[in-house]
Amino acid sequence: MFNIVIFGKPGSGKGTQAIYLKDKYDLYHISTGDLFRKNITKKTGLGLEAKNYLDNGDLVPDTVTIKMLENEVLSNKHAKGFIFDGFPRTLKQAESLDLFLESINLRINATIALDVNEDELIDRLLERGKINNRSDDQDIEKIKNRFNEYNTKTSILINFYDKQDKFFSVDGKGSVNDITLRLFDLIDTLI
Ligand code: ADP
Repeated sequence: MFNIVIFGKPGSGKGTQAIYLKDKYDLYHISTGDLFRKNITKKTGLGLEAKNYLDNGDLVPDTVTIKMLENEVLSNKHAKGFIFDGFPRTLKQAESLDLFLESINLRINATIALDVNEDELIDRLLERGKINNRSDDQDIEKIKNRFNEYNTKTSILINFYDKQDKFFSVDGKGSVNDITLRLFDLIDTLI
């Protein structure tokens, strides 16, 4: 079983690359952002609870997010491995994930960051905002708020995983295919 966290700032390409990683390594892909958006579309209780946070580019509270993530893992227990995309995003989430995985005899094998500078990310997100319906991709202030959430709450996880010797970083600039190949090269040395 090989479990990966794909890590990086908003717009760094986590979701795009997760699709290729999932196919190549036969992993089950869990995107917390996608799960929230599905719940919002379906107007579930969870969706109603999460909607304002997503619209403003704020993180959804840990308790809600952690429960949703654990349910998703437990519903797919027979997967060969997981790729976590957009989770964990806070220290509390990372600590909970370790404890939860341990309780079902699993562990994170690697956390891989896609490294892209904020100027390029702003361009990418605004472009994405033209073709998707995400209000959080269409407003520069919301984008900046998401970077602020990352910088104040998420970036500390680099140290968290580095201390466990599980943190790796890949240059996230270039063509989608180039980046995929960089990720494959790295992961092939880890499995
Ligand atoms: P991006 O990485 O481009 O910001 P995501 O789809 O991963 O896009 O996340 C969109 C939004 O969903 C976040 O801004 C946040 O509101 C919510 N979200 C996703 N994952 C988490 C998480 N682990 N903890 C809290 N909120 C989350």
